[in-house]
Amino acid sequence: MKRIESYLCGRWAFGAGKPEVVVNPFTEEALAEVNADGLDRAAAVKYAREVGGPALRALTFGQRAELLKALSAALHEQREALIDLSIAAAGSTRGDAKFDLDGASGTLAAYASFGKKLGDRRFLSDGDGIQLGRTPRFWGQHILVTRPGVAVHINAFNFPAWGMAEKLACSILAGVPAIEKPGTPTALVAEAAARVLIDSGILPEGALQFLGGSAGDLLDHLGPMDLLAFTGSAATGAKLKAHPKLIAHNVRVNIEADSLNSAVLAPDVDASSDAYDEFLSNVVTDMTQKAGQKCTAVRRIFVPKDRVEDVVGHLIEGLKRQRSGDPAAAETRVGTLTSAGQLRDVRAGLERLAECANVRCGGVDTVRARGFGLEPTLLVAINPEADVFHELEVFGPVSTVLPYDGSAKEAVRLVNRGGGSLVASVYSNDASWTEEVALGIAPWHGRIWIGSDRVKGQATAPGLVLPATIHGGPGRAGGGEELGGLRGLAPYLQRTAIQGFQGFVAKAFGSSEATDL
Ligand code: NAP
Repeated sequence: MKRIESYLCGRWAFGAGKPEVVVNPFTEEALAEVNADGLDRAAAVKYAREVGGPALRALTFGQRAELLKALSAALHEQREALIDLSIAAAGSTRGDAKFDLDGASGTLAAYASFGKKLGDRRFLSDGDGIQLGRTPRFWGQHILVTRPGVAVHINAFNFPAWGMAEKLACSILAGVPAIEKPGTPTALVAEAAARVLIDSGILPEGALQFLGGSAGDLLDHLGPMDLLAFTGSAATGAKLKAHPKLIAHNVRVNIEADSLNSAVLAPDVDASSDAYDEFLSNVVTDMTQKAGQKCTAVRRIFVPKDRVEDVVGHLIEGLKRQRSGDPAAAETRVGTLTSAGQLRDVRAGLERLAECANVRCGGVDTVRARGFGLEPTLLVAINPEADVFHELEVFGPVSTVLPYDGSAKEAVRLVNRGGGSLVASVYSNDASWTEEVALGIAPWHGRIWIGSDRVKGQATAPGLVLPATIHGGPGRAGGGEELGGLRGLAPYLQRTAIQGFQGFVAKAFGSSEATDL
């Protein structure tokens, strides 16, 4: 059987422990074995610091941007093979697989273009120079320098290629070598994508290592210049944040966790408007794309009380048009959950939601006898105040309609009960209502997406994470921040204030192209 290997210290290797078997989530046929027991994680950390780091730091931002451009092209070249693998190994439809892979190559290309503008510099001036003494003679300038450490990237299973590429793009551009550890259920796809990147020979040796299997003692070896960027559940994120070594050395930790994202329909949006069509189509996409296994997918749909029956009817019509089944079939629009464990969790979560809601389509009875598929499931809350809707993320094709009174104030209160989310989408053509809601929910969100008649046909979907704008959210969403153009480099750089004689400080460290991260 195929083995998912790790690439550490310059060679591909397989662990010595009992392998875990990953299966096709539709047929349950065994596809590959994964194990990384006994592989030397301490040596990999040292290798990154001593081999990959110096090689990357010797390059300018512009040269590193060139590497990203070449990596993007290498991944794109293998697109068809990787799509086929993703369909077999991740329960993805062809559309889902393209979303992951094009997201990966697109993000690498976007960072190549952000980095190109930084040109032949090896550090960045941060903001303008500052007069510190009584006269300009004593001067200050903030700079951003690459930290001579290693970045450990631990990813969730749902975006095996994109999740890895978005972290890697920022890390490489900043000049920090990375060790990528994917979610095990889709490690077969992540390994294939990593092999393309590594075997292309584009990156200097040691700049990218790959750990297929459990993290083991990897975090025990991190130190003050290192970084952990984690994407996954809030529970795992909380555990890792409390890791004694990370605390002892103040290792930088960025957590991207789970989220109870909202869609809010305002009372002014009538059923004949473009904004309403956009609302219906985005909610249906979020519930069905990647079988709802998207961290940005909408879980809570706020609808004015008197509109609930009409809206539910229209959403069900839209969901019924999305055929679910074999991800390999061309007509399938909804693939399967990725693993047996994922199906078990979704089932249990759905049962808890259903204690306080009516299931209007889908439900646990639609779980197929074989494989991990489940029909898109729409619920309507009996009591929208029940904690379960605002606290439990069901990571599958499951969303709940929550009736509210249509006021901006109520919308803000209920949306913010999610405790901190990645994204909320708000649909309205009423500027003052939208402004009140956007400002009211902004502190609790990383991103607010506003749909109206004016952006119909122009806007990207709310579930789509873009390299130019930040991804992350406060509170239960993890409190982290990724991407956002050059802001995504910040965790990998050290901001240092240089103070001294202006003639020297401004010449050596100032720049007419200062960057504000
Ligand atoms: P998970 O179970 O928390 O696992 C995430 C990653 O952490 C996996 O690579 C996992 O490895 C690893 N891991 C687990 N325990 C660990 C430990 N003790 N030490 C080191 N690593 C450990 O989450 P998941 O099931 O893969 O992903 C689904 C969740 O991720 C959902 O809640 C979703 O909302 C969230 N998510 C968030 C974002 C975001 O950007 N905010 C994006 C995607 C997904 P193994 O697989 O080997 O256990």
